[in-house]
Amino acid sequence: MKPIGVFGGTFDPIHYGHLRTAFELLQALRFEEVRFIPCGDPPHRGKTFADAAVRFDMVRLAIESQAGFVIDDREIRRGGPSYTIDTLGSLRAEFPERPLGLIVGMDAFLGLPHWHRWAEILDRAHLVVAHRPGWRAPDTGPLGDLIARRGARRVGDLHEAVAGRVYIHAVTQLEISSTEIRELVAARRDPRFLMPDAVRDLIARSHCYGTLETTNL
Ligand code: ATP
Repeated sequence: MKPIGVFGGTFDPIHYGHLRTAFELLQALRFEEVRFIPCGDPPHRGKTFADAAVRFDMVRLAIESQAGFVIDDREIRRGGPSYTIDTLGSLRAEFPERPLGLIVGMDAFLGLPHWHRWAEILDRAHLVVAHRPGWRAPDTGPLGDLIARRGARRVGDLHEAVAGRVYIHAVTQLEISSTEIRELVAARRDPRFLMPDAVRDLIARSHCYGTLETTNL
């Protein structure tokens, strides 16, 4: 059965680094769909800059024209800290037979041992690690060990079991971060072409990162 790609993040804001990664994985890993799940209250970082409703709308606008991209509001609805293990539990209850592929960038993967109940994540989903500029896969420590024990070499491995494998996949490297976009807006510079225009327009209308200086909206 084709897996569902599960893409969680703060998406504060969503940008082309996220979208291109999800699109390449949708095609290369033959996902049924990629589910974007904006987190409500991220446990590993301070408060988000834009509130949950605006981040949700930014993701909705960014993906609406792409078949196979789906938005999912379960973390925002749930309230409390958005633990990935709980999100995967709720998806597993909804899709008992379906392979799930949790998508993370390499930087997020390197922080995995700090996640709540991280060792149980592979009981509920596969891990799909997208290379990000400047990061290398570890070959020692708990993550090196995880890759050695659970590493998958074939896309088919992710279709044949519902969970339990780690698949590392290179994607086009777009050196864009949400931090950089927020800093550009704060410095009164236009973040155009780092994200879809509809997302930039919403940033301008909502003033979620301050006043967007632009000559062309
Ligand atoms: P911030 O700058 O606020 O930390 P971010 O740009 O890293 O944000 P997040 O919403 O925190 O975005 O990231 C969600 C997921 O997307 C993470 O797994 C992260 O590794 C991945 N990701 C973020 N930016 C990129 C990118 N340019 N290319 C590929 N993956 C990315």
